[in-house]
Amino acid sequence: MKRAVLYLYFSLFLLLPGFVFGQQTRAAPAHTSVSATAPSAEQLWSDLMAGNQRFMTGHLKTGDIVGLRRDLAGGQHPNVMVLACSDSRVAPELLFDKSLGDLFVVRSAGNIADAIGIGSIEYAAEHLGSSLLVVLGHEKCGAVSAACSQEKMPTVNLQAIVDQISPAVTRAKGHVAADQLLQAAIEENVHQSAQDVIANSPVLKHLEEEGKLAVIEAVYKLDSGEVVRLSKPVSSSH
Ligand SMILES: [Zn+2]
Repeated sequence: MKRAVLYLYFSLFLLLPGFVFGQQTRAAPAHTSVSATAPSAEQLWSDLMAGNQRFMTGHLKTGDIVGLRRDLAGGQHPNVMVLACSDSRVAPELLFDKSLGDLFVVRSAGNIADAIGIGSIEYAAEHLGSSLLVVLGHEKCGAVSAACSQEKMPTVNLQAIVDQISPAVTRAKGHVAADQLLQAAIEENVHQSAQDVIANSPVLKHLEEEGKLAVIEAVYKLDSGEVVRLSKPVSSSH
């Protein structure tokens, strides 16, 4: 029954005149109730925080994963994009208690955004209708720690990661003591990645200016499992 309703909804949706990917009329996620109004960034964030609370307390929701998989086979409409570190302890779907079809995830060591990562975000924002990007750093990040060490990396590829994080480390050094450098650099690196995504993508910048894309910055705590939202830095250009 649920699948039949969804197929009907998607059929009607695709027949709407003036249909444009990424506009407010996009389809709701297949596993939630169908709504004509797209949720706001703050509503999406509140939902992520509710999932994070469930994760922290170990009360994860259960669902019909087989049915969900089948529902989603015809298409995806994730509302939320996440740019996160590749660290095995920082799996976005788990720590936000989300499932298939919920999150469009880009991961790299140090949650940095290169051209391929930004292109992936452009795809989700433009063609899947995703309207919120969460840039997620985490405590004890090895990539940021390597950048803080200022040691030369053994390969050009590892060096490329560290080089992209280094400006954040330099900024952090300007306002914290040495024993707080790593945590400050982790937060500065989140700010930097969020800024890089917008600064290097006219498409995303335009969507943000039109109010169709919001960026939220956050850090994940390894011990407690909590995701903490960061305030935007004063120097932020967006
Ligand atoms: Zn990391």
